Amino acid sequence: MSRYMSSRFDSLEAYVPGEQPQDMVYVKLNTNESPFPPAPAVLAALQGGEVERLNRYPDPEGRLLRERLAEMYGVEYENVFLANGSDELLSFAFLAFCDRTRPVAYPNISYGFYPVYANLYQIPYTEISLREGFVLDPKDYCGLGKNIVIANPNAPTGRAIPVSDIEEIVRTNLDHVVLVDEAYVDFGGKSCLPLIGKYDNLLVCQTFSKFRSLAGGRLGFALASRGLIEDLEKIKYSTNSYNINRLTTAAALATLDSNSYYVANSRKIQDNRTYTGEKLDALGFETLPSLANFIFTRCSWMEGGALYRALKAKGVLVRHWERAEIRDWCRVTIGTREEMDIFLDRVREIRKEAG
Ligand SMILES: *Cc1c(COP(=O)(O)O)cnc(C)c1O
Repeated sequence: MSRYMSSRFDSLEAYVPGEQPQDMVYVKLNTNESPFPPAPAVLAALQGGEVERLNRYPDPEGRLLRERLAEMYGVEYENVFLANGSDELLSFAFLAFCDRTRPVAYPNISYGFYPVYANLYQIPYTEISLREGFVLDPKDYCGLGKNIVIANPNAPTGRAIPVSDIEEIVRTNLDHVVLVDEAYVDFGGKSCLPLIGKYDNLLVCQTFSKFRSLAGGRLGFALASRGLIEDLEKIKYSTNSYNINRLTTAAALATLDSNSYYVANSRKIQDNRTYTGEKLDALGFETLPSLANFIFTRCSWMEGGALYRALKAKGVLVRHWERAEIRDWCRVTIGTREEMDIFLDRVREIRKEAG
């Protein structure tokens, strides 16, 4: 830190993204990207003239894309908000809805960006412990009197709670915003989107990064009541009015034209998730039930950090955290069948070498 940095960030710990090493080609199972490339229509769309228009700013309203998303999800245009990745969406939401008098709460084991934004904006936060087996008990959130953030399915556990539990939390916290981060909802989970017509305080966040193979394009979106969307717009126009670039818009529109391609990919990932879990069972692993494009798993014969390092040395990247509650565990993104077979082969080798 230089001596020019504001002292209000002295204790800020920045988010640490999963490693993106450039030194060699890894089987990359560490950042929950899709292993499948964007649909052919996306590549075609990028050659369709938007490159030539890059001298012009994009539409700050994002009208075309918002209209398409509204139509697809059966909501009004005014219920849709676009952001440069759902990370930006989370940033805007923390800034818009939370402050000293409106603190935020979320599970103790969840997406690592939540505490970073809380610290960045100096928002008091409560981390509510998950129950045995990393299970979220909705009772812990009912009538809480704070803003609430829940990833459903949760990361890094992959566990999901039913929409009825979400509704109970939303219904008992009408004076506060309940943000449901549905980054992984398209891998077998159920969206709480139908509730936005009923509850003004529900903010549903989704992303094109996982299911739609567009992590490099940076696009997230929110679906919520008009009021919440207007609030997010206010923050956006006070931060970066042109937050969605032309190329990403063109790519995203094309993904919406190729839905069946992405649905088929999701089915493959769900099959590979089941396959990998079963193979790991036979190798002495315990794997949590997952409705996401990753699994959270631990083995009886090696500590999580050691397994992560041994896999990396053999060219396979998974994600591991040193935090006490989860240090036994590794999060493994579900890739193609070929990638999962390489991962499983390396695990077998490591087990043999460990004796
Ligand atoms: C990946 C992820 C995001 C961020 O997605 P981007 O749209 O790529 O910024 C948000 N929330 C959770 C829980 C995630 O896992």
